[in-house]
Amino acid sequence: MGTKAFLIDTSKCIGCRACQVACKQWNELPAEKTVNRGTYQNPLDLSSVTWTLIRFKEVSSNDTLKWHFFKDQCRHCLEPPCQLSSSVPGSIIQDKTGAVIYTDKTKYEDFDEILCPYNIPRQDKNTMRLFKCTMCVDRVKNSLLPACVKACPTGTMQFADRDEMLEKGKKRVEELKSIYKNASLMDDVEDISVFYILIDEPEMYEMSRRLDVKSMFA
Ligand code: SF4
Ligand code: SF4
Repeated sequence: MGTKAFLIDTSKCIGCRACQVACKQWNELPAEKTVNRGTYQNPLDLSSVTWTLIRFKEVSSNDTLKWHFFKDQCRHCLEPPCQLSSSVPGSIIQDKTGAVIYTDKTKYEDFDEILCPYNIPRQDKNTMRLFKCTMCVDRVKNSLLPACVKACPTGTMQFADRDEMLEKGKKRVEELKSIYKNASLMDDVEDISVFYILIDEPEMYEMSRRLDVKSMFA
């Protein structure tokens, strides 16, 4: 089995959060108590029991308001900075699918020392274990789609071999440009396995933004 990737076409996302629910169901993660903070985004951030999240951003365009939705999750980096910064052998491993997996041994890591350019991992304060998206590697190895991809009712997400996803992403951007002049594939595709198609400038989305990894290791 070769390296896999997600293709997330935000032009199709309606913010229904079926992916969030599916992730919780498949991984048996509990719901979180939240409060209304004046946004439909819920919960407000990733946590040890919320491994993916639709981030909402309200933007104004031509005197009308619209939402941009962004499915945040681990990017399954090809050379994961989190793994490179790990000090516990076997705590962060990479599967041949490309999935970056956090094992039970992450409870022995110094969380403050784990470097993720996207600020993804979260720690369970009771067990001290670190958690994040697994790429549903347990499903993928049994020829099933990741739960979030399977649950999406609009076809926003696709999952397949990395080369195929990249090719499809580039093609889709060309199609979208006739409607959305700012359509693009987010520019870190060479380093990660989650490709995002945006229809507006990246600044118009709420997302965990990539930090400069070189400076993190300096
Ligand atoms: S791939 Fe699996 S673990 Fe990752 S966000 Fe989707 S459902 Fe959750
Ligand atoms: S996005 Fe962060 S947590 Fe995920 S593989 Fe990359 S460095 Fe690790």
